Amino acid sequence: MPTDRAPLPVPSCPPETAPAPPVTSLYIGPIGRKDETCPLTMRALALETIASFGRQCAIAYTDGSSTRGTGNGGYGIYLLWPDGSTTRKCGPVGERTCSYECELTAVTECLKIVIEKQQQGAALPSVVILTDCRALVQALGDSRSENVGEAVQLADHLLKTEGVQTTVQWIPSHIGIFGNEIADELANEGRRMPQPRKPLTLADARSILRHGTAKLWNAAQVTDDERIPRFQEARKARDLLQNLPRSDAVQIFRARAKHTLLLADRARHGWSATAACRLCGEQEESIAHVLTECRELADVRPGGWPTVPLNEILWCGNRVAMTTAATMMRKFLQRAMR
Ligand SMILES: [Zn+2]
Repeated sequence: MPTDRAPLPVPSCPPETAPAPPVTSLYIGPIGRKDETCPLTMRALALETIASFGRQCAIAYTDGSSTRGTGNGGYGIYLLWPDGSTTRKCGPVGERTCSYECELTAVTECLKIVIEKQQQGAALPSVVILTDCRALVQALGDSRSENVGEAVQLADHLLKTEGVQTTVQWIPSHIGIFGNEIADELANEGRRMPQPRKPLTLADARSILRHGTAKLWNAAQVTDDERIPRFQEARKARDLLQNLPRSDAVQIFRARAKHTLLLADRARHGWSATAACRLCGEQEESIAHVLTECRELADVRPGGWPTVPLNEILWCGNRVAMTTAATMMRKFLQRAMR
């Protein structure tokens, strides 16, 4: 798992001034599950839905894809303007990225094109963005979603500054809709471009874990029905946390989440002006420092400690290592707060 992580998105403004999400729709007509509905019916319903938006608005087909869900990503945009002209755009998303991020990038880039067009005097009444990513349509329509920030801000800007209403409409993929096929091809072209290095987002990390686990399960020939019970069993067996005394478990849990009372963690959140060790003043007051380096804690650190890397102390099932780590954290905090 790559370690260069993108920071978790946080709302950039209080809820009362938050941008209004775009209009979203997952509905194209009375269809059942994709595999139960005839593709021709789905195609007809999708085309009818697209036609219902009228000829005055810009219609944008967006698509994103990544290689096997975790590798090189690309996005594609095919825009039909009311005057009959078209715009095509594609680009790479990143070396390690998931399809969701690619789909989101397609929508974000598309909104930028529309803003630019409008600023050049296009006088569009509205734009309809068509995507085959249901999760993205849902996220964009939910004002509590945090991982769609820029797209929602751009849609809000389009509405409030340029007077253009954005609608995001889900359409099924691979049913032979011309614009959708072009966006799909463009996304594939984007995938083959030189890829930028970008930090891993939460969605990317989830996708890498999901695909990695699926690969392991498949290799072990574990069926879908067996997976959840086996996962729960494995978790129970491995994670000693719930068997530790509560005060130890709390320390280990905080250390794992990097939410301890140590200054390195507090400084990261802006709650402390300094991260220097309160006991020795020499280095950053981090978990690693407390457990393995700080000389002011040498008297409580067992000889030969640590015998394993930090992550293994916090995550392994070694009871002695975990309780010792918890004791050291507690001792350190007692001394630091004296
Ligand atoms: Zn120290």
